[in-house]
Amino acid sequence: MVISYWEPGRRNFAQIRRLLKPYPVGSPPRLILHYANYHAVGESGPGCHGIRSPVVVTTYRDSLLWILDRLTTPPVGLALPPLPTPVFIFEPAEYRGASDPFTGPYMGQLMIGLPCRTGASERSLELDDAATAAVHEMCHVVCFNQPGMRGNVDRGWRWIAEGTAVWAETLLGSDPSASRHSKEYLFYALNWCDRPEVPLDSEYGMYQAFLFVRYLVSRFGGDAFVGNLWRAARVGEDPWNAIQNLTGQTTDDLFAEYSAEAYLLNDPASPCYSPEVFSRFGPRALTSSVIAVRTAETPIHGSVWGLGCRYYRVDVPVPSSLDIECAGDEWGIDVTLVAGAATASYQRVAQVSHQRKPGTLAIPLTPIADHIWLTVCGKAGRRDTDFSLVVTAR
Ligand SMILES: [Zn+2]
Repeated sequence: MVISYWEPGRRNFAQIRRLLKPYPVGSPPRLILHYANYHAVGESGPGCHGIRSPVVVTTYRDSLLWILDRLTTPPVGLALPPLPTPVFIFEPAEYRGASDPFTGPYMGQLMIGLPCRTGASERSLELDDAATAAVHEMCHVVCFNQPGMRGNVDRGWRWIAEGTAVWAETLLGSDPSASRHSKEYLFYALNWCDRPEVPLDSEYGMYQAFLFVRYLVSRFGGDAFVGNLWRAARVGEDPWNAIQNLTGQTTDDLFAEYSAEAYLLNDPASPCYSPEVFSRFGPRALTSSVIAVRTAETPIHGSVWGLGCRYYRVDVPVPSSLDIECAGDEWGIDVTLVAGAATASYQRVAQVSHQRKPGTLAIPLTPIADHIWLTVCGKAGRRDTDFSLVVTAR
């Protein structure tokens, strides 16, 4: 009697590859898909490396080709990868210990690894995941194949690469010609809403950076911005240099404006307008909410990391103006305050105002303003910094 059992563990990729058959796709070939059928006839059974339905493969193929076309034609217009991209559809957990899709080096170029199976309860959920994974990984392959990147997955560009790849996923939700209309990217919007204090370019914030990419696209020339950014990418250079050159703004000013606008998810006039995020999760998290009483001082103390931000809401019973005093040396050096007035439905009433040094910021109020929001932003490269504010209604 033969007893076989599945032992989780790392297998040699060459061993797995022997189970998979190559299929060139596109003319000229843009991709080479490698996969095996779960019930292979007349061959060794691939077990967990087999696909159960051809529709999984066609969903991968259509989504890979769709995003390749979106990213390599105007307005994005990035260069095509120089060689057909090898795509292996198998169980990555047996090879890397995790079943997530991935992009990695393979024989002098970049390969994509996509899962051949999921435990999703419905086939439609499996196909949504498949389309999203294909778009995400192919975006990495295109970006890291731009001439200045030379096929390197550059660590310094990782956060903006993840932001760009999740931004590419959002196109699935908005383009009628998309291979599948998935909104899986909203998964990352949850932490983006709940943890605005996480630094934008940190390991913990990099997927959530898609909303920063959406902001840049909205403010600086549409989808073409993504093409301009990745054409300017250079191995070993800081992506903030390229972003500053393309926007003409400093990192800190750009971050402060983005953070303030990100409060206005429901405002069609905001570059951060994201009604699908707002309707699913609501606005970004407040660190605290205070009620300012006329002529009395309301103190706010807090701390913030560089390229993280904190939101405070101030409700005021119909005063004529609000004074916000920024106390301490950290203002302008370590932190910036951006303030504005909004309606109950998170639409702008008054333009945002900046305070970059110690002193008082005065905000005139109109009767339709429901509340004031304050955005305290940490400056790039700064560690956790304490700050103090005093709010007075007059
Ligand atoms: Zn990624």
